[in-house]
Amino acid sequence: MSNIDLKTPPKREDRLNACIAHGSTICEMAAGKGKKSCLQNDGDRSFTQGSICLLLPALAMLNSLPDNVVLMHGAIGCGSCTHSQNANVRFGTTQRQGKARDAVWISTAMNESDVISGGEDKLELAIIEADRRYKPFSITVVSGCVPGIIGDDIDGVVLKVQPEVNARLLPIHCEGFKTKIWATAYDAVYHGIGRTLLREGEQPATADGLAPFKGLERLPNTVNLMNVSSMGQIDEQELERLLKLLGLEVNIFPVFAHPESMVKATQAALSISTCPTHDDYFLSYLEERFGVPSLIQHMPIGIENTGLWLRDVAAHFGLEEKAEQIIAQEEKELSEALSGFRPLFAGKKVFISAGEFRALATARLLEELGFQMSGIRSFHHDKFAEVEYEKLAKSSTEDYVIDIADVQPFEEANLLRRLKPDLFLGHANGNGTAAKLGIPTHAIYHTALSYIGYKGAFELARRLQRQLRNPSYNRKLAENVRLPYRDEWYGDSPFTYITKGATA
Ligand code: SF4
Repeated sequence: MSNIDLKTPPKREDRLNACIAHGSTICEMAAGKGKKSCLQNDGDRSFTQGSICLLLPALAMLNSLPDNVVLMHGAIGCGSCTHSQNANVRFGTTQRQGKARDAVWISTAMNESDVISGGEDKLELAIIEADRRYKPFSITVVSGCVPGIIGDDIDGVVLKVQPEVNARLLPIHCEGFKTKIWATAYDAVYHGIGRTLLREGEQPATADGLAPFKGLERLPNTVNLMNVSSMGQIDEQELERLLKLLGLEVNIFPVFAHPESMVKATQAALSISTCPTHDDYFLSYLEERFGVPSLIQHMPIGIENTGLWLRDVAAHFGLEEKAEQIIAQEEKELSEALSGFRPLFAGKKVFISAGEFRALATARLLEELGFQMSGIRSFHHDKFAEVEYEKLAKSSTEDYVIDIADVQPFEEANLLRRLKPDLFLGHANGNGTAAKLGIPTHAIYHTALSYIGYKGAFELARRLQRQLRNPSYNRKLAENVRLPYRDEWYGDSPFTYITKGATA
């Protein structure tokens, strides 16, 4: 039985033993000492600061889908992150479809009466009204904490209402209280797609292996390129460029893909992950049910990682020689283009904060550019990243700190005051702590900027050069604002409040 057969996807704490609280070093993580602590994942900080729930990444994916209504079933504030995500939806649709489109997002806005009486009737009416008013191809019914706590059966409501509406209904389980690992969001969305849009097209095994969705042919030169919203179109284009040099056609999935077209993913000859943190759940399903093999290692950020990623794809199609030619040419051009930046970067210390795979792949790129790592904060840890810690431990001349933390800016402030890096790379909304300490910062992810492949290596270097040449904004910021922590906190170990697994 596959996970997709279950009503709700398992949380990542159970499925992958993922964890969010550990203090360590790169050498210890590479030696596997992170594994033991990460099996103990609950109650592992005696003090925590606010974080996000899995709704934010789930809605980043769902809001991008054209011809879809996101129907939140939850308390009134659930899903309000859509307001800030809408700029990405407009930007992304303008780039891809030539016309701006807003996310269509509505909510049952559950109140006290619904908590007491149940919200199923309200949800039923909301589905019918959304179908009548917007006439979408699909309605994704996203449940927050409240229906999970009071026991509303959103799958039951969807089954009951489906015959009455034209839209395809996809239940998506995002009850925030069920998991501390917000990467579970990717599984929740993929689970909904797999159980509804691709379910009735499953076919029995054939002599050649498993078949695509019913009535469709296998496409021998087409690959699925997975993007759950961690790449803007500029990065998609870079990977498409490299895959086309190998002679392959590319089906980008699932962000900004029309729900009706998602069956195309079952026709591909191969699925290629761009981030193992995101994709393993769905790629296993495509492999088990539709016979689409997958590659799920190496994030193509950085010179070495991009080469490894491309070589793996080429090996699947017997195109190794062609890949070596492409890589040699790209690396030669890039090496020349980067030479002017290297003197400024040489030996500068950098701290990185991001989702685990992105943080580790970007660390490798920065080393390739001449920086020296002073620390990494990964939002969670699971088995897929072990190989990346090993790579970094081998390439680094010094040991450095690893903080596994679902943000926790107080730990970050403590670490940054000790380590005093020359540069901080983190998410745009997470760079405030470093900026207020006067450290030059740069966004580690932005859909309008290039990060991936050979182009991304050059573009990141170009942007960092500009940032490092003029750090006066952050320096002046530090002179005029302070962080909200007492001086005593900076004298404690940054991992004081991690109750299991801290080693520093
Ligand atoms: S799903 Fe739960 S944790 Fe997430 S925003 Fe809603 S109430 Fe908060």
